[in-house]
Amino acid sequence: MFLAVVLFSIMEFSKISEDSERYLLNTYNRLPVALRKGRGIRVWASDGREYLDFVSGIATNVLGHCHPKVVIAIQKQAQRLIHVSNYYHIEEQIKLAKLLVANSFADKTFFCNSGAEANEAAIKLARKYAKEHYSQSKFKIITALNSFHGRTMATLSATGQEKFHKGFEPLLSGFSYVPYDDFDALSAAVDKETCAIMLEPIQGEGGIRIPSADYMKKVRELCDANEIILIFDEVQTGMGRTGCLFAYEHFGIKPDIMTLAKGLGGGVPIGSMLTTNKFASAFQPGNHASTFGGNPLVCAAAVATIETILEDGFILDNCRRMGEYLVSKLNLLKSYHPEQIAEVRGKGLIAGMELTRDGLPIVKACLEKGLLINCTAGNVLRFTPPLIVEENEIDKLIDILDEVIGK
Ligand SMILES: *Cc1c(COP(=O)(O)O)cnc(C)c1O
Repeated sequence: MFLAVVLFSIMEFSKISEDSERYLLNTYNRLPVALRKGRGIRVWASDGREYLDFVSGIATNVLGHCHPKVVIAIQKQAQRLIHVSNYYHIEEQIKLAKLLVANSFADKTFFCNSGAEANEAAIKLARKYAKEHYSQSKFKIITALNSFHGRTMATLSATGQEKFHKGFEPLLSGFSYVPYDDFDALSAAVDKETCAIMLEPIQGEGGIRIPSADYMKKVRELCDANEIILIFDEVQTGMGRTGCLFAYEHFGIKPDIMTLAKGLGGGVPIGSMLTTNKFASAFQPGNHASTFGGNPLVCAAAVATIETILEDGFILDNCRRMGEYLVSKLNLLKSYHPEQIAEVRGKGLIAGMELTRDGLPIVKACLEKGLLINCTAGNVLRFTPPLIVEENEIDKLIDILDEVIGK
């Protein structure tokens, strides 16, 4: 009987994986598991096996899988109204905008459906504002090497990584890249045609790179002195991930434009480009739009997500405490395996462990032991658990990593 069940689930999975290859474009290196159900930090696969999820949709499920408040908000909204055009006022969208504005530097927001779209909106707004208010020839945007801003043509052009550009040239003109966290390199790259500087407050895909404390302050001053618009891509770092609602709060400065996506909807696709009244004025009806952006369904989910994050301070507090715990445990692991682990970096619950070798085999070995982690930049294991993660779950992660890395 038991054998029959095991055999059935193996056959069932091989059918899933076969169909996946046959019907889906080959754009991802998928790991050999199909996830069917999730609660909190746990997910279950098609064969019923349980996994501890330290990927959490790559930083999307900030409250964990299927948080009851998010689920109920979606259910209720789905029964009432799912989508209407932005040619009408949408109350759920206004409610979400108010919450974002009340808790950030921004005065206004534009809603879209993804991180790339939010960055597209930011790039368009910066160019339009600079042309109209500064100079017709001010259109260049400086970004960082190893940055990641998305996969559309403009955001791909903004992304400072050649490996993503290959095969898609010519890119959009006007982008240049400088080493991250290197103020002299950045200021040397500025000229009269520079309209914006676009940075991640912490580089996510680039390998969890945290800039030095005074870097962003100097960048802010550089922008102010040269009529340059400062864009923070907080698609990965926003929504509490670093222990503050937004990562810019750590630096004691404010950007002019900020983009959000990943964690914003607690798992549903929504993006937001936020800015001040000054820059917002560059967009007038017809300049930018999105059919699905800010629809009632996703906004209801995002409202539930942000309200839960802010409710009683528990989530952000837990993120900070568990973040410190995670980094201290990872450092302990580093002391056990000094040959394998080069460095540990983290802020709140975005953490990276740089290995001295390729990380993918470690990701695969962890999967076999019931743990989901991710690897970025080739050799950096990335941990982005939900902000509700508990100490014993981090202990479990460390135990498995210890075992796998020690082999
Ligand atoms: C994931 C990510 C993006 C792209 O978001 P999509 O929703 O995949 O378009 C952009 N910027 C950063 C910093 C990201 O981490």
